[in-house]
Amino acid sequence: MDLLNTLVDKGLRRETPTRAEALAVLATSDDDLLDVVAAAGKVRRHWFGRRVKLNYLVNLKSGLCPEDCSYCSQRLGSKADILKYTWLKPDEASQAAAAGLAGGAKRVCLVASGRGPTDRDVDRVSDTIRAIKEQNEGVEVCACLGLLSEGQAERLREAGADAYNHNLNTSESTYGDITTTHTYADRVDTVQKAHAAGLSACSGLIAGMGESDEDLVDVVFSLRELDPDSVPVNFLIPFEGTPLAKEWNLTPQRCLRILAMVRFVCPDVEVRIAGGREVHLRTMQPLALHLANSIFLGDYLTSEGQAGRADLEMIADAGFEVEGAEQVTLPEHRTGGGCGSHGGGGTCGSAPAAGESAGESAHPADGPRTDLVAVRRRGAGTDLAPNA
Ligand code: SF4
Repeated sequence: MDLLNTLVDKGLRRETPTRAEALAVLATSDDDLLDVVAAAGKVRRHWFGRRVKLNYLVNLKSGLCPEDCSYCSQRLGSKADILKYTWLKPDEASQAAAAGLAGGAKRVCLVASGRGPTDRDVDRVSDTIRAIKEQNEGVEVCACLGLLSEGQAERLREAGADAYNHNLNTSESTYGDITTTHTYADRVDTVQKAHAAGLSACSGLIAGMGESDEDLVDVVFSLRELDPDSVPVNFLIPFEGTPLAKEWNLTPQRCLRILAMVRFVCPDVEVRIAGGREVHLRTMQPLALHLANSIFLGDYLTSEGQAGRADLEMIADAGFEVEGAEQVTLPEHRTGGGCGSHGGGGTCGSAPAAGESAGESAHPADGPRTDLVAVRRRGAGTDLAPNA
């Protein structure tokens, strides 16, 4: 297919595809799916080899958020039966982080629900970052605390944070349909603040919230412009008790096309499969490793992932290898002067959303699969051992 040859050539040169080419990837048929994966896989291997970076989420503060992000189980008015707790103490967070690192993760993503941190919250998280760094040599720490005020990114950097995550989530034109308590521009501003403070910026999207192909391409092109080091791709987990609970529109094939499109548009960036991997890719997860070079190990913020052991087996069975702490994630041209290992963070509000199916898999999933959504009941904020 000429389209795929063109996209591979551009990906190897770090050249941006046209919008029409990105849209064409989303419109490919199921008959072409393996060709699409193979083509994007060439770009992935060129920049990242067969390495898979593992990231581990620690939810520092869960639930009770005053914001109204429709996809989020922690939102204002959410009826989702999630764990709710206030700030973990530095030692508790460090213990949770250690479990993820023992399981093979090299990055810990410290996430807190809320619109954004107060200065006191930044102090608290700074103590936590120091505790984690002291107790776990070589660990990368990403913070995800919501919208940042002036000077907060710098303070997190001084405390030892390597990265900051704040997702754009969806296109600018549909942002107001998803969230009314803050704006798309607020989100862009926070990513820019993180970047300016010398933190590795991590910003991604949620697919499956009812957006069009154009919306998906819009948000991915906006991300390319913001130039984060890592792009987490979430697939909406339609939690019962949230406004998007009925949005079960993704198929595994659709998810693979989305990941391929992101890889072609952001060829040399850490593309991470985030929330919804197990729920929507299901048995096709190993194919997605040919597109993304990073995943979360174990559980998400408020929902369960597959067992950490199963993640490791899947990576080995698919012929990939877990990236070691001594290996630099990003290609050399992206690491100059930075933390040297850049990568992404968690997703504030782990619930991602719906999309349209394309080509021959235009059929949505066969109705809601609420059996696939399990609320997290162990790990951070509980007395039970975490899944890592
Ligand atoms: S995504 Fe973050 S800001 Fe939005 S409701 Fe969830 S926790 Fe709050």
